[in-house]
Amino acid sequence: MIRIEGRDISIYDQPDYKQGKRRGKEDVQVIRPDSLIPEEMKGIGKGKKFLIRTYGCQMNTHDSENMAGLLLEMGFESTEETMEADVILLNTCAIRENAENKVFGEIGHLKALKVERPELIVGVCGCMSQEESVVNRIMQKHQHIDLIFGTHNIHRLPELLRNAIYGKEMVVEVWSKEGDIVENMPRARQGKTQAWVNIMYGCDKFCTYCIVPYTRGKERSRLPEDIIAEVRDLARQGYKEITLLGQNVNAYGKDLEGKNYGLGHLMDEIHKIDIPRVRFTTSHPRDFDDHLISVLSKGGNLVEHIHLPVQHGNSEILKLMARKYTREQYVELAHKIKMAIPNASFTTDLIVGFPNETEEQFEETLSLVREIEFDSAYTYIYSPREGTPAAKMKDNVPMEVKRERLGRLNALVNEISAKKNLDYQDQIVEVLVEGESKKNPDVLAGRTRTNRLVNFVAPKSVIGKIVYVKVTEAKTWSLNGEMVEMAEVKQ
Ligand code: SF4
Repeated sequence: MIRIEGRDISIYDQPDYKQGKRRGKEDVQVIRPDSLIPEEMKGIGKGKKFLIRTYGCQMNTHDSENMAGLLLEMGFESTEETMEADVILLNTCAIRENAENKVFGEIGHLKALKVERPELIVGVCGCMSQEESVVNRIMQKHQHIDLIFGTHNIHRLPELLRNAIYGKEMVVEVWSKEGDIVENMPRARQGKTQAWVNIMYGCDKFCTYCIVPYTRGKERSRLPEDIIAEVRDLARQGYKEITLLGQNVNAYGKDLEGKNYGLGHLMDEIHKIDIPRVRFTTSHPRDFDDHLISVLSKGGNLVEHIHLPVQHGNSEILKLMARKYTREQYVELAHKIKMAIPNASFTTDLIVGFPNETEEQFEETLSLVREIEFDSAYTYIYSPREGTPAAKMKDNVPMEVKRERLGRLNALVNEISAKKNLDYQDQIVEVLVEGESKKNPDVLAGRTRTNRLVNFVAPKSVIGKIVYVKVTEAKTWSLNGEMVEMAEVKQ
């Protein structure tokens, strides 16, 4: 127990980068707890509410569903209203500086509420909690935080919450380790139509700009039988779409001893399950093998959308990023996939302003976008992450140059996306209706198999269903249309 600014702090474990990047020293345990809720914690949430703010990627959304599952089992109800909450968890993202600044802004805002309601419990978890500097900053400057835990010990939430509630001190428990797999976690999924199915955790790629291998541990695959059982159960429950999730799903199975079993094998088995749509994310070109391509070309419930981050168009920069493939190898792979799945949409991630990036090298990113004709792309300005090798490189591209290049890149990506969307004009597309459009509650929104956003007017009763829409207007990022009857489709 230490004391800072009058606040007792119990540190059970705190993050350690060196530990976080170790590999090959620990065996992966598959933990199958009967119950994760200590007796005295059952019912502690009766009449109380929790709020989880989730930042960042789908992996965090998945983890928040597990945390919500645990809190519901403790009797809490969920709320979206900060003022109603008795427990507030910030499930954080450490991928870029602005993501971190957003969280510290929120932490600051919650101080006033904590002063007003001292019994409120505020916790910080997710990838930022795995960073030494972040945990130190919270302990030194934000003593109104009650709980800090990480990405490896989410299943410990009930016990840690008990200690924070009864102990009145700040509780810090963050494990920096290679990582285990915890099965049987209670799960409060968002919605009844689409579901995230985690197939693996962590990443061993160590791209020089990326914090994930330090915050999420080593690549470790769930057992195929556990994944398939989960997918079968979701199909039984009537889910229409699942997304197989991992930081690098293409490395699935590489760590399963004695098993020649990869993502292609898993997709092939899921291909036989009666669920209309199957997606997967996030891929890494280095592990995208021919077997997977041949399985994906079977179609059926394996939808025609490939998200394959390239990050840059110049091989020198790819080398500095330690992506371990060249531009040429990426182009060859992209063409191989497009040959095998001709009507697939192809999307990617791109970083501008990486250390030493010259105008000529940036131009190669533009020329790669023209050559592959990505249907869309997530584009980012390089943001140094403390503890990563790239953070030691001189961040020598001025911010105004980074912004100017991002502007040119986005203009090109938009131009191609708009052109590609024109191919859908007057076509009839299959749409999984996700709900009301964000912009207009009288309009419904959903996605095609190629992950195009479609907006159309229809009765709310079709939400959660697969319908057919005739495209009447193709825009840069979305399609507008009219719902058509099945009969018309057959014509
Ligand atoms: S593959 Fe993705 S998650 Fe893994 S280190 Fe590279 S960028 Fe990060």
